[in-house]
Amino acid sequence: MHRLHPSAIASEGETLRVERGCECFDMDGMKLEYKGEDALKELENLTEKADEVQQRILKEILTRNGATEYLNKYLGGSTDRSAFKCRVPVITYAGVRPYIQRIANGEDSSLISGHPITEMIISSGTSGGNPKLMPSIAEDLDRRTFLYNLIMPIMNQYIQGLDKGKAMYLYFAKTEMATPCGLPARPVLTSYYKSKHFKCRPQDPFNDYTSPDQAILCMDSGQSMYCQLLSGLIHRRDVLRLGAVFASAFLRAITFLERNWTRMCHDIRTGQLDQDITDPNCRDAMCNILRSPDPQLADEIKAVCGRSSWMGILGQLWPGAKYIEVVVTGSMAQYIPALEFYSAGKLPLVCAMYASSESYFGVNLKPLCSPSEVAYTLLPNMAYFEFIPLDSGPQSGGDDEGEVVKDMLVDLVDVKLGCYYELVVTTFAGLYRFRIGDVLQVIGFHNRAPQFRFICRRNVILSIDIDKTNEEDLHKSVTTAKKLLEPYDALLVEYTSYADTSSVPGHYVLYWEIAYTSCMAGPLEAHLLQECCVAIEESLDYVYRRCRTYDKSVGPLEIRVVEPGTFEALMDLCISQGGSINQYKTPRCIKSGSALELLNSNVIAGFFSPRYPTWNP
Ligand code: AMP
Repeated sequence: MHRLHPSAIASEGETLRVERGCECFDMDGMKLEYKGEDALKELENLTEKADEVQQRILKEILTRNGATEYLNKYLGGSTDRSAFKCRVPVITYAGVRPYIQRIANGEDSSLISGHPITEMIISSGTSGGNPKLMPSIAEDLDRRTFLYNLIMPIMNQYIQGLDKGKAMYLYFAKTEMATPCGLPARPVLTSYYKSKHFKCRPQDPFNDYTSPDQAILCMDSGQSMYCQLLSGLIHRRDVLRLGAVFASAFLRAITFLERNWTRMCHDIRTGQLDQDITDPNCRDAMCNILRSPDPQLADEIKAVCGRSSWMGILGQLWPGAKYIEVVVTGSMAQYIPALEFYSAGKLPLVCAMYASSESYFGVNLKPLCSPSEVAYTLLPNMAYFEFIPLDSGPQSGGDDEGEVVKDMLVDLVDVKLGCYYELVVTTFAGLYRFRIGDVLQVIGFHNRAPQFRFICRRNVILSIDIDKTNEEDLHKSVTTAKKLLEPYDALLVEYTSYADTSSVPGHYVLYWEIAYTSCMAGPLEAHLLQECCVAIEESLDYVYRRCRTYDKSVGPLEIRVVEPGTFEALMDLCISQGGSINQYKTPRCIKSGSALELLNSNVIAGFFSPRYPTWNP
C-alpha cells in the first residue's frame, strides 16, 4: 500500500508505517495489513486468542493514555485492569463531551489521548441538538482498513470468481467541517474515502469498483449519485456485486435511477456527459469512461428501464450480479421487502460488517445467511469491549443516561449464549467505558470470540405515560401490521413515528409511506388502515396495552399516510442539516420541529384505531 519511508513523519490521517518485504507494520511491530488467506489466518488467530488480545489492547490503551487528564483522574497512572474496572465510570456522551469540546476548541489531545487527535468523527447521533463528535487518531484508519480487508477473503470462501468483475458500490463522501481549532470534523466514511488508505489503495481485482473515486469524493450528492449509477450502467455486463453502506442509501439510488435513467441513456447513446454534471473532477473521470457513443447499450438499458414494473430490475440491469452488500440488520430490516422486490428475491442480501463512529466492531462470517440470522463476530483487536448485561431481555437495564454499576460489566469472552447486552467500548483515541447504545444478543461463538445479533439502538422510544416502546418493538408491530397490506398489492416502503402529546391523552402517530406493486392497486380503504392500527396496538407490549385499555392514559394509535417521496424529502432535510448519506438511517421516532412539519405537510389521510387492544391483568 502507501510506501512510506520508515523515517517519514505521520501527517494528517496517516500513521507511521514500516515496510518489510511486502508486509506493513506500525512502529510497535504490529502488522497492519493482511489480505486473502493471510487475513483469514489472522482472523482465526485473533478469535482463538480473544481474551489475550483484549487484555493486551486494554494494557496498551492504559499505558499509552495513562497520563491523560481524564484517565489520570481515576487511575493515577495505574495500568491495572482491576483498577480500571472498579474506578473508571461507565459513561454516555455527556460524560466525555466537555473534554471533546475543549480539544475541538484547541486544547491538547492529551486531555484524553496519548496520541494526537487528528480529526473528529461526526456520528449520526445528536446531543442537545448538535452532532456528536468522536475523537479519532491517525492509526484508527489502519484499524478500519484491517476490518475492510477481511470482507473479501470472507466472501471469497462462499462465492468464487469475484476477482473477475466489478463491484457497483454506491459510496458518498460529505463536505467536511472544521472544529474551532481547525481539526477536520467529518463522518467516519468520509474520513476513510479521503484518506490515503482509500485513495492510494493498491490495484486489487477483488476491489475493482465501477464508481470512479472522483464521483465518490464529489461533494454534490446528486452529481455523485448520477455519475456512479451511469458508470454502473456502462459497466453493467462486468458487475458482479451491488451495494451501498445501508439499505436505505441503496433504495434511494434505485429511485434516483427511476427518475434519471432516460438522461443516462442519452449520455450513453451520444457519448456525451449530461451538462448538469459540472464538477470538473467528475466530468474528467466520466468522460474517460463514456469515451464513445454506444447506442446498443443505450437500447438495452432503455428496454429494461422502460418496463412498467421494476420488479427484478437489478438482475436485469446487472445480469452478472451475485449479491447486494447492504446493512439490513436492525431498523434497516424494514427495507428487505423492497430490496427483494427490485431483485425478485434472487440476490442474497449481504450484511458484511458492524461498525460505528466510535470504533469498528466486527464482521459477518456467514455472509450468505438470511438477514434474520446475521451475526457479527466482534474483532478483539478493534477496541476493548465490555458488556452491560440486560438480564431480563433487550428492554431492561435502565435508561441511557442512568448510572451503570461499574463492576457489573462483563468482558468479551465472558458473555453468555442467548443473553442480551449493551455494548461499551474503550478506544485508543480516548473514549473510556463509553456506552455505544446498541443492544446485542449473543447467538454463537467463533473460537473464543462471541457472535452477536444486532437487536436495536437503545434510546429510540415512544412514550406517552409509563409505556416505553423501543425501536425493536415498534418494528415488530409494524412488521405484523404491514402484512395486512400485501393482499392489496401495497407495500409499506418507509415509516416513522411520533409521540403526539398535543392533546390529552397523547397518542402514538405512525407516518406511513405506501407504494403499490401493481398499477391496478390502491388507494386503500379506511377500514384496512384502521385494522393496521389495531394490529400494531395488539402487538405492542403489556404496559402499552394497559395504558390504552385500563388506564386510558394513551389515546388511539393513528396512522397518517403520506405522499410518495416524503421519506426521501425527510432524508434530504436531515442531510441538509448536516447528516451523511452513507450513514443516514430513517429516524424511527421523530422529535424535531422541521422534520415533523415536513411529514405533516405531506399527509394524505389519517386513520385511528377503532377499538381498545386486548389487555388482561
Ligand atoms: P454512526 O456512528 O453514525 O456511524 O452509527 C453507528 C450505529 O449504526 C451503530 O452503533 C449501530 O446502531 C448502527 N449500525 C452500524 N452497523 C450496523 C449493522 N451492521 N447493523 C445494524 N446497525 C448497525
